[in-house]
Formats: sequence, C-alpha cells, structure tokens
Amino acid sequence: MRQNLVVFTGAGISAESGIPTFRDANGMWGKYDAMKLASVAGFEEDPQAVLDFYNARRKNLLEVEPNHAHRVLADLEKQYDVTIITQNVDNLHERAGSSKVLHLHGELSKVTSSRNRLDPKCIKEYPLDVPIRLGDKAADGSQLRPYIVWFGEYVDGMELAEYWVQQADIFVVIGTSLVVYPAAGLVEYAPSEIPKFLIDPKDLKGGLPAGFQHIKAKAVEGVDELVRRLESKDFIGRLQPPQDNNSPQPHPNHQRPMVGGLWLIDDMRFEGLGAAVEYGDIVDALCRHVGRVGGLFAREDGEILRHQLE
Ligand code: NAD
Repeated sequence: MRQNLVVFTGAGISAESGIPTFRDANGMWGKYDAMKLASVAGFEEDPQAVLDFYNARRKNLLEVEPNHAHRVLADLEKQYDVTIITQNVDNLHERAGSSKVLHLHGELSKVTSSRNRLDPKCIKEYPLDVPIRLGDKAADGSQLRPYIVWFGEYVDGMELAEYWVQQADIFVVIGTSLVVYPAAGLVEYAPSEIPKFLIDPKDLKGGLPAGFQHIKAKAVEGVDELVRRLESKDFIGRLQPPQDNNSPQPHPNHQRPMVGGLWLIDDMRFEGLGAAVEYGDIVDALCRHVGRVGGLFAREDGEILRHQLE
C-alpha cells in the first residue's frame, strides 16, 4: 500500500516560474489594493478594473512554465499517493503532471457566475487568451467573473482539504506565509506523529509550526533536499506502516461534522457533497457522475470511509 504524501503549496512555489508572490517585497499586494481587486465590494464598485487585473493574470499564465519544484512533485506520484492542496490560482501543478490537485482559492483558467460563484452550471473553463468582458454572461444570465475565491468569500474546498491532511502519512508545506485563513489553519489537521516538512527560503513570521523540519531554501532547490530526506534509510525506517485504505479508520482528531465528497477524474476536482451525507446521497452522486468518479469518501459516526475506485 502506498503512503499518502500530502503537499500544501502557496505562491512561493510558482515564484521561480515568474509569478510574483503576494507578500514578498516585490509581491503583488505592494503594487495593488487587495480589497479593491479581490473582493465582491471591489468588483461591484469597479468591475472593469477587477476584470483588467484578472485578464492580465490569466494571459500571463500562457507565458509561464511549471518549474522544477512542480515537476518533482508530479514525479513523486511514481512512489506515493500524492495529493496537492494549493492556494495558488495558476495551473502549474496540473501542467507539470500532478493528477490530484485541490485549488482552495479558485482557478484563473475558469469563470463563473457573479450571482452564485459556486453554481456548478456556471463554472467552466475559459480560454486564457480571451479576456472576460463587461457584458459577458454566465449560464444564469449574470455578469461572468473569474472563478477566484475573493477575500471574505467561503472557501468551499476546506473540509476536503482538512480530510486529506488528516489522511497524510507525510505532510509537506511549500512557499506559503501561512497568514491567509482559513487555508493557513490546515497545518493543524496533520496527525501529530507523521513527518512534516516546510520548504521556504525565509523564516515564517508566525514561527515554524510544531513538528516541522524547515528546509530553508527556494522551492526549486528545497524539493531536491526533500526527496533526499524521503529516500534516506533512516527516514524510511521511521515511517509507520501504511493504513489499509479499505478498512475504515477512526481518526483521533475526528470531532467534525459528517461530510462527503467525490473525486472527479475528468476535470480533476473534488466535488463536496456537503454535511450530513448519507448512503443515498453517495449513490445519487455516483449516478450523476457515472464513469467520472475516481474516488469517494464519507465520514460517518466517527469513522472515515474511503474508497479509491479502480
Ligand atoms: P504569500 O505571498 O503570502 O507567501 C509566499 C511565501 O513564499 C513566503 O513565505 C515566502 O517566503 C515564500 N517564497 C518566496 N519565494 C519562494 C521560493 N522561490 N520558493 C519557496 N518559497 C518562496 O503567499 P501565500 O501564502 O500563498 O498566500 C497568499 C495568497 O496569494 C493565496 O491566497 C494565493 O491564492 C494567492 N496567490 C497565488 C499566486 C499563484 O497562483 N501563483 C500568486 C500570488 C498569490
């Protein structure tokens, strides 16, 4: 049985690809006003300015390439079950070949409704070289907007992300200042006994989270050191035997609401089923997505049921 390697990434992993981070000295928020460009209020006040900002970022994605760090993470799928949870809105993990990527803060390559951002009928891929214009309509007739989670908006992927972090056998955090909540709180869900690594060239303002080894380097160099540490005999000897995924495992942290979700293989995303999932909800969802489901999970009565479909 393969180990679950869960990786939580932030803007730092894409810095060497030429996408600026947010909070470093030459980062984006130094140049732009976050509350105007990344909030619903800002969009209502000046939609053209917000669309111009995101159209430029979308177009820029065509000019950048995944870097060595993205590629090494994709390569680790040969040895591990790798789950990438990213705060990034770029598509560099996918383009490097990672097959399981959960975007917590949305994706520049998609658009949605400005009436209901989470309406599945309105979320769709949109060519990066086609600007979103004022007057372009979503399927519900509302103004089209980027599929980005703006400040103050609900982070709908959090429960699934928490679930995956709880399932980690090895947890790696790369290039995030861990200041944007609720995403930054994810590190608290990692089981206490597992190996944890943080790759970042700087010390974090809030200090190193408990139990982490700090690989103090840029992502492109830090991933090679990570692989060296993962391959060292000492490290392999210390790993717990992997859990048998087919038998439900109660988790010690498990005091959370019942949730469930599906992993859809064709558009590489999780679809949450919400709280209080019952068996019938899962069957319904499977019927809705026949042939597209790569895996599913539900938490019930303190137990986690997980099933990876062949
Ligand atoms: P952040 O700007 O707050 O923090 C970046 C972190 O990366 C810092 O700790 C910094 O020391 C580190 N870093 C800088 N260069 C690095 C490198 N070469 N290698 C490794 N680490 C490096 O970013 P954040 O914590 O991700 O949070 C900010 C928000 O910014 C997120 O919500 C995200 O959606 C958004 N964002 C995304 C992108 C993107 O999609 N590429 C880019 C900028 C911002």
